[in-house]
Amino acid sequence: MLFKELSEAFEELEKVSSQTEMIKILADIFKQANADEIDKICYYTLGETAASYKKVTLGMAEKIVQQSISLAADMDINIIKDETNKIGDLGEVAFTTIKDNDNRFKTFFNTKNGLTIQDVDNGLKKITMSSGSGSAEVKQKILAAMLTIASPFERKYLVRLVTRTMEFGVGEATVLNALASAFLGSKKEKPKLEAAYNLCSDIGLIAQVLDKKGLKGITKIKITLHIPMKPMLAQRVSKFNEIKQKINSTIIAAEEKYDGERIEAHKDGQTVTLFSRRLTDVTTQYPDIVENVKKYVKTDKAILDGEAVAYNDKKDVFYPFQKLMQRRRKYNVKEYMKEIPVKYMLFDVIYRDGQSLMKKSYPERRKNLEEIIDNNNLIKVANRRLTDNLDEIDEFFQECLDNNLEGVVCKSCSPTSYYQAGARKYYWIKWKKDYASELRDTLDLVVIGAYPGRGRRRNTYGSLLCTAYNPEKDAFQTVCKLGTGFSDQELENLPQKFKTLKKINKPARAEVLKIIEPTYYFTPKIVVEVLGAELTKSPIHTCAQDETKKGISLRFPRFIRWRPEKNAEDATTTTEILDMFKEQ
Ligand code: AMP
Repeated sequence: MLFKELSEAFEELEKVSSQTEMIKILADIFKQANADEIDKICYYTLGETAASYKKVTLGMAEKIVQQSISLAADMDINIIKDETNKIGDLGEVAFTTIKDNDNRFKTFFNTKNGLTIQDVDNGLKKITMSSGSGSAEVKQKILAAMLTIASPFERKYLVRLVTRTMEFGVGEATVLNALASAFLGSKKEKPKLEAAYNLCSDIGLIAQVLDKKGLKGITKIKITLHIPMKPMLAQRVSKFNEIKQKINSTIIAAEEKYDGERIEAHKDGQTVTLFSRRLTDVTTQYPDIVENVKKYVKTDKAILDGEAVAYNDKKDVFYPFQKLMQRRRKYNVKEYMKEIPVKYMLFDVIYRDGQSLMKKSYPERRKNLEEIIDNNNLIKVANRRLTDNLDEIDEFFQECLDNNLEGVVCKSCSPTSYYQAGARKYYWIKWKKDYASELRDTLDLVVIGAYPGRGRRRNTYGSLLCTAYNPEKDAFQTVCKLGTGFSDQELENLPQKFKTLKKINKPARAEVLKIIEPTYYFTPKIVVEVLGAELTKSPIHTCAQDETKKGISLRFPRFIRWRPEKNAEDATTTTEILDMFKEQ
């Protein structure tokens, strides 16, 4: 397929905002693509160039891209810089400045009819691979060559792709829906694609397998060492005694809930890879965990699930999440490792010596976990209380709070308590200290806009527009404006924090009523934990709107903390908010 055809589809995609129309455009293009192209089309649509866990870095800074445009357009770099200042979007700059000409780069790609998707992929791979001294010039020339033979629309999308500013407001859920509709006739089968995607984290692979082998091939996708899978998630309840009603098991395992970073560890002999909850490779962040997994996991191959928690080994106490975040750095990791030791608390094992344990019950997996971990001060199986009595869980919960922990995660011991990648079901129920006080729930919300500040806040934002995620519609729906609870420092930092996410228009997936339109829009990316007093019906918010168009809003929201470890799609869902509203 020619990149031109894809660019035409992108052009259409940019004009629509309804999910149904987006799915139709994407499904049409998926049907036309062959199996070697379809993976790239998925990545490009999402603004990536490969599966996101692979962390491909193109190294195309604004300056390099401007140079490429200048070469392809045969124009002085200063003109390109001026145009950038005027227009803002480099894609548009490429669109308007480069004209068809007999440029010296024209023969770089051996192509008669124009760039194919394969050509673009080859070009991007060459850009990725060039590193070291002189690489900036090589990168410039490769992009210039592509831009020279491309048509104006292709130029716009090529530049947006390499500058990571490609944004159609299409999320993974929409791409999966489009794949289901292209190959399986309807969106109905999307959950099967989603289940496989949760295991392999590669949407391009899902598309390829679907194209080549159909649904049969999809059901054969398995977890693989060193490829991250989506972690299982915990549900919430608003009343303590609901734990027992919802968990579907007489015996409940209440485990300590640690306030750290979720880490999925893959051990393959002496090779250990660590993934964060967002499925990024964080191996270099935690050399201590790597060593301890090698030393104290008594099996050759395993995939483990647990939490890295900042820990004071002298006083034997845990620190909260904020302390752990000080370890999140590129340099001096070893130094901080001594200053802030980390204890890896394990609560699951998903794979053991060639065998997936996903279809084993929680009690069986826990038994496996206990067999393979040599507990010590640095790596340990999570402490828990096994009981059928809620009072005992409450007692354990209080002990957890006394020990500086966040609360408990109650786990079902039923025979069907399988490990469910990416799913948030009642097999795991979290109960945190915030929940213990009446009408006090924290929500993890996605910031999509801001309003200017006045008076003391004139140099920063007055409040942020926060949304919940609706996975069925792949949309972000508004819940509240958040303006309190920030420290002075946090307030001052807000414009800087959102600087690169600023957008002129409403992001396609955001659902906002005119009456509360923010002054600034942001790409939905940053997740914030918010504490509120109560949920009420509101005509100005779009979250869980009823037939009279009334949504649900959170009253008296207060900032608690940022949740950098969460993706926008991991935020509290609109259905969860509706359930919480009903249970108030
Ligand atoms: P939350 O981030 O508030 O939605 O709570 C769920 C998170 O709690 C999980 O993603 C884990 O990172 C963390 N967690 C801490 N302790 C446990 C545990 N014992 N079992 C499961 N998750 C845990």
